[in-house]
Amino acid sequence: MSDHPEPSRPASPISPARLALDLTATDFDALNSGDHGGLSYRALFSPHADLPRSLRIWADASGLRLRGLKRLTQDRGSQSQKVLFGLPDGYAVESVLIRRRDGHTACVSSQVGCAFACQFCASGQAGLMRNLLAAEIVEQVVQLGPKVRRIVFMGIGEPLNNYEQVMKAIRILRDRRGCDFPTTGITISTIGIPSALARLREEHLGVNLTISLHATTQDIRDRLIPGARKHDIGDVVARALSWAKRHNRIVTFVYLVLPGINDTQADARRLARMMVGQRARVNLMRWNPVEGISLDRTPDHSLARFRRELARADVPVVVRDTQGRDISAACGQLWLRDLKGLRVEKRSTRRKAA
Ligand code: SF4
Repeated sequence: MSDHPEPSRPASPISPARLALDLTATDFDALNSGDHGGLSYRALFSPHADLPRSLRIWADASGLRLRGLKRLTQDRGSQSQKVLFGLPDGYAVESVLIRRRDGHTACVSSQVGCAFACQFCASGQAGLMRNLLAAEIVEQVVQLGPKVRRIVFMGIGEPLNNYEQVMKAIRILRDRRGCDFPTTGITISTIGIPSALARLREEHLGVNLTISLHATTQDIRDRLIPGARKHDIGDVVARALSWAKRHNRIVTFVYLVLPGINDTQADARRLARMMVGQRARVNLMRWNPVEGISLDRTPDHSLARFRRELARADVPVVVRDTQGRDISAACGQLWLRDLKGLRVEKRSTRRKAA
């Protein structure tokens, strides 16, 4: 199969004013010829509640909006918190804060909806409306608070299908003069768009890479991830491994074990053959229930059998459970919503998957 460049999506049809969090440090310096009334670039990243008055005055004078996301609701679970952020065009995306003793993890959205329509995921049910701006990605992290130590692009949207804005957001978050976020704490989780993986291989970002593989044959992957039908599964794996080799890193392949679909011994053996001896590890996951989707959760014994098969082949493998199921904030459970918090499930003119 060919590896076509992904079509670019509009970033935002509705930016009445430029958002301050879209500024790189260089943009910030250039603005107002470097006269910021004594403000530092770092000040832009103050959490929402503490925005200094001087910053607001400066932003007004510079024709910038300091913030573009409106915190609509928040659900607090045992170890996680789900926040619904309203966008200026009437949609709302969900982000999740996972609380850990050694620092919190921000699970952020990268698009308004998703084009890939994965059969197990709530986020793809509405199709893709638009890309998030870099500022809207950065702001999710800022609003989730100063204790965030890790960022995972596992919220709504396929991050590599919004390549430019996601890369820009990572660069802004990493900038030592601003957020100074450690890159080793940033994980891009993707279904693995081959052309985008080729670009990512050439970036010097130091991020972690996780590939949602979920199948060992093209047929099953096409069923589970309809929007990725034109992506050859072998090409996805090869490009991810090429990234790992180039950066001397380990790439994580996530495999959602679904009873009766991809959980046979033959599947486990094929997966082992793909991964053995590579710079790769496998995270096995159970499906997190989504209303309206009829799939089953794998019983423990099947998961253990699948894991054993990989371990026997010396493939590093763990079973991962995701946080947040108590507030429907686990992997695959985030919905695109409107400003009233209602789910957006269907579009009349659904965009063709990338
Ligand atoms: S799993 Fe990821 S790529 Fe698939 S529909 Fe959900 S958000 Fe999109």
